[in-house]
Amino acid sequence: MLVRVPDYYHHFRCLADRCPHSCCEKWEVVLDTEHVNLYESISGPLGSKLRAAMVQDAEGDVCFALNGNRCPFWDHENLCEIHRQMGEAATSVTCQEHPRFTEDFGPFREITLSASCPAANDLLLGSEAPLRFVEWADDAPAENGDDWLPFLLPLRQQMLDILQDRSHSFYLRLYSFLTLAEQAQTLLDAGMESELPNLTADWTPPASVNGAGLFPAALHLLDGLEILEADWRNLLHRAETIPPADHSSALLERIAVYFAFRYLLKCVNDGDLLSRAQLVVFAVLTVEQLAAVCGLSEALRRFSCEIEHNEENVSALLEAFCYGEAFSLPRFFQTLVQ
Ligand code: SF4
Repeated sequence: MLVRVPDYYHHFRCLADRCPHSCCEKWEVVLDTEHVNLYESISGPLGSKLRAAMVQDAEGDVCFALNGNRCPFWDHENLCEIHRQMGEAATSVTCQEHPRFTEDFGPFREITLSASCPAANDLLLGSEAPLRFVEWADDAPAENGDDWLPFLLPLRQQMLDILQDRSHSFYLRLYSFLTLAEQAQTLLDAGMESELPNLTADWTPPASVNGAGLFPAALHLLDGLEILEADWRNLLHRAETIPPADHSSALLERIAVYFAFRYLLKCVNDGDLLSRAQLVVFAVLTVEQLAAVCGLSEALRRFSCEIEHNEENVSALLEAFCYGEAFSLPRFFQTLVQ
């Protein structure tokens, strides 16, 4: 199977005990069946501790209950007790995979490194070069993909190219990105996906619009979602009162491409390309707004922790873009021409 990843993927190294925002705190580790069975079979003090730590969460999944906001196996030296005593293979799939987001499309698999992880975040924002993607074939068997994939892949490439066309201002690129997504959605809704390649060739630059923009409504929307850390709301409130600072458009571009790569192709599951394009623009504009308070890297890390790692929050945003007037396309366009 073909595997596709961002070009910095192979440079990733977990910071382990040196990590300033470890994934071993705040998050309950959801356990896979194989590791639950393994932990049930282990003898001695570690086995007893493993069984005592396993609980069922609200969704019925088995996880390790946090102990004072920490994973109970995250020891006093900020290292994993399970890893230390039994090796990496004994840690759960969740732990082994983090910070990777993996998406299987049948003929290929795409993997991103979550920007919630400080090491991955540094790699993403540690360069101003256009973000590229590399691929290789592994031994896993390829399967048939969705019928839309042959049309959506070149469309996504065209959308990534728009984001990376540095001959235009960054906001104009976001505007064009949304315009193309809107036109593509019209074709998808009409069952005319085979016309998408023509659309990418016929795309024309957008005109300006009038009306209200996205902010502060975007911050209020986030304020109403599930939160991971209480001070997330403080950050949202402070971002309302502090004017946006200037940030490198090259870094904002890399953030936009990171989100676009991660989310656009997921529309093969439900046909909704446009809301995911809006999610990309919403995410980068919100990160830019929050960055005035805490800096770009921290703003991205916090957004990723609070939103990207919570499927319900992502779904709530996609729904707001579909049905909320405050997040309609004209609001996006107005924000980008202000
Ligand atoms: S957040 Fe990233 S760098 Fe930190 S401990 Fe987890 S995987 Fe390692």
